[in-house]
Amino acid sequence: MTSIFTKIIAREIPSDIVYEQENLIVIKDINPQAKIHLLIIPKKEIETIDHLEESDRELISDMFFVAKKIAQDLWITWWYKLHFNVWKAWWQEVMHLHLHLLSNI
Ligand code: AMP
Repeated sequence: MTSIFTKIIAREIPSDIVYEQENLIVIKDINPQAKIHLLIIPKKEIETIDHLEESDRELISDMFFVAKKIAQDLWITWWYKLHFNVWKAWWQEVMHLHLHLLSNI
């Protein structure tokens, strides 16, 4: 099933996109839990960390380097949090891998 994030990536539904590159996109969370709440989302549909394949190594690395770049661009390098929710039992609602970036600066 196509995830809501894949629909956002395909511009089938609107979203506030703050950054995009070949293999991932960064959007504002629709229900922010902090002053800054962004989602770093691979364009490839990967359900959870459990579903990662060896070929995803570069993609996952890019997610963290993009997080670092965004934190630098927003001047929040000394105060932000990154987290993944994994599986529904641990609050993952959207089954398309995404990294949360939050800051209350
Ligand atoms: P998780 O619980 O880790 O799966 O987080 C999913 C996140 O996606 C939540 O923080 C939601 O607020 C967010 N979200 C769901 N739908 C949208 C959307 N259409 N645009 C932006 N963020 C969304």
